[in-house]
Amino acid sequence: MFAGSRYAVCGLGRNGTAVVEALLHMGAIVQAWDDRNADLPPHERLTVAPITDLRGVSALILSPGIPHTLPKPHPVATLARAQGIPILSDAEILWRAVRKAGSSARFVSVTGTNGKSTTTALIAHVFQHAGIPTAAGGNLGTASLALPLLGNNGVYVIEMSSYMLERLDHYHAQAACLLNITPDHLDRHGDMEGYTRAKAHVFDNMGQGDLAAIGNDDPWCNAIADILRTRDIEVATLNADNPPAFESMALPGRHNAQNVAAAWAIARHLGLSEDAIRQAVSSFPGLEHRLQKVAESHGISFINDSKATNAEAVSKALASYERVMWIAGGVSKAGGIEMLVPWFDRIGKAYLIGQDANILANTLAEHNVPFEMCGTLDNAVPTAFREAQSAGVPIVLLSPACASFDQFASFEARGSYFLHICDNIVQSGGSGT
Ligand code: ADP
Repeated sequence: MFAGSRYAVCGLGRNGTAVVEALLHMGAIVQAWDDRNADLPPHERLTVAPITDLRGVSALILSPGIPHTLPKPHPVATLARAQGIPILSDAEILWRAVRKAGSSARFVSVTGTNGKSTTTALIAHVFQHAGIPTAAGGNLGTASLALPLLGNNGVYVIEMSSYMLERLDHYHAQAACLLNITPDHLDRHGDMEGYTRAKAHVFDNMGQGDLAAIGNDDPWCNAIADILRTRDIEVATLNADNPPAFESMALPGRHNAQNVAAAWAIARHLGLSEDAIRQAVSSFPGLEHRLQKVAESHGISFINDSKATNAEAVSKALASYERVMWIAGGVSKAGGIEMLVPWFDRIGKAYLIGQDANILANTLAEHNVPFEMCGTLDNAVPTAFREAQSAGVPIVLLSPACASFDQFASFEARGSYFLHICDNIVQSGGSGT
């Protein structure tokens, strides 16, 4: 395995580049390319060119964003299937490399439609805090193959997208977590059954002594849990109603309670004490742009939830606070904000920005929720802050329900700009200018 074997790598972003470097480091012969650009340092065992024939290749590693089935398989994926060459994800290569190095470090996989990054970071934080050598990454954060080699007592926490899950083979996690399944990425998986099948791969190769931690908020997760119970896997149901250790967490919301439940189940299963987990949870700062408290002035808290690009995510934010001044808008998603209607009574007023503000406004108007067309964050934040004070609403929440690319390069850029405006408000002593 690896040394002297040939591998093809398609897609040379962050993940693909780490795959090439790791394979070369392990002595493999690699052909790699990217349809857009391919900028790799020269190496005697590396060819940078598109592959037209995969015969003799041990595996094709595709970047997470490149489809091998729906909506349209990349031609090299079609070629691999025709020639019977396995298509693998970088997490599979990492797992093989770790085992080949003789390490019995444990693997924890985390997937779900929402909450993957937070839960991955939280689980990693818990192990790190307990003094266990820990490496976390995968779908987001550090690429799987850029993670360090851990010894026998180490723990890898790997965030898995559904594409990554479909490209596993021997990868075996000692604990895996499936948080939830709601409609998303259906273009890639055809329908909910296909999407659920992809997610269920997170439990592949697991058996006696392994732990499957599964959310219980949707029928898809419940169905998978029922199937797993007929096998020898230990199943932990992630009950979000006041799980242990949640009382010590700084982050709000039932969804974060579920994320703590996952961390608790997995950390207990892998041998951490209840005390150690409690202590770790209390010092978890959360991730940027996800219900992140970024400032406070005159008793008003500013919450950056820029990651909430769809109504589903916004519903978690609105469920987390009694009453908010809500800043939203950008590039609207299919379905708009219709599913938020049950939460509308928590909105003091909505401050709308971005190209599709009128789509949001129409739904709000139908339900008599006050709103104002603000155009930009520069207008929306000071206005919301001023009116929050006079209305006695303690939270100004940016939770856009929309993509950011009409006004910002990314949701991160949008959140950072919000923070910048909030900082100015705080520095001006709350004058709001
Ligand atoms: P992902 O990596 O899956 O996109 P994140 O951790 O970045 O997930 O969280 C994205 C959004 O998903 C959060 O802002 C929150 O609204 C929602 N979320 C977080 N945890 C959960 C959960 N356990 N169940 C449902 N939604 C969640």
